[in-house]
Amino acid sequence: DVMLRLSGVSKTYNKGRENEVQVLANADLALAPGEMVALVAPSGAGKSTLLHIAGLLDTPDTGRVEIGGTDYTGLSDRRRTVARRQEVGFVYQFHHLLPEFTALENIVLPQLANGVARAEAAARAADLLERVGVGPRSGHRPSAMSGGEQQRVAFCRALANAPRLLLADEPTGNLDPATSDQVFGALVQLVRDTGLSALIATHNLELAARMDRVVKLDQGKVVPG
Ligand code: ADP
Ligand code: ADP
Repeated sequence: DVMLRLSGVSKTYNKGRENEVQVLANADLALAPGEMVALVAPSGAGKSTLLHIAGLLDTPDTGRVEIGGTDYTGLSDRRRTVARRQEVGFVYQFHHLLPEFTALENIVLPQLANGVARAEAAARAADLLERVGVGPRSGHRPSAMSGGEQQRVAFCRALANAPRLLLADEPTGNLDPATSDQVFGALVQLVRDTGLSALIATHNLELAARMDRVVKLDQGKVVPG
């Protein structure tokens, strides 16, 4: 049983130009349902590229991307966009919350866009915020929250539409070490509680060691970490 499978994925930027760079070279990766995997590699190694391809934001030059048993190779942008909204949650280093809306509204809005009724969306948002310990802050705008709180809200937003796969790119990279540790703990708990598969890029080896498995990128291939 596989939730995410990348097979033979290659990606080269600026092909044929002097600044051509092959970032992924026949990379393979499979995540089981509920599995949490850390992706550790130096800056520029291709972590963001791999996450974007895994999350159907970008297409590989060659190779296949399967999510939940569906092969998205060659499917239309529209099909891929629909699948991304339903199946994949993204978290970045920066929270990207909408500044003019409260924490709760930031988690309600993606659900409304997905056809969920407001009352149901609000209940789910409140439950998610409670789980990561920011329930009491749900009526605040992002600017009134600490960096750690903002990132917790961003985790909830990523899970708003109950995806099966979470992709995170340095999710605590902007936080000081102590806050980073706590916030990462909240993310791990949330993923465990909801049974998601997660691929989390991080420079932090201590945090990576809390995952089920660590992989790294070596010359464009995914290898055991
Ligand atoms: P990481 O996330 O590990 O820092 P990236 O996937 O962002 O790595 O980038 C890997 C390499 O590919 C870098 O050399 C980067 O400059 C290059 N790169 C990434 N995206 C693009 C792009 N859209 N166009 C050209 N080069 C890119
Ligand atoms: P991060 O490493 O936090 O993902 P980056 O600055 O590497 O942030 O990348 C931000 C965005 O710019 C990504 O979508 C990436 O694909 C793109 N990008 C990165 N490097 C290049 C590059 N050399 N040329 C064009 N786009 C790039």
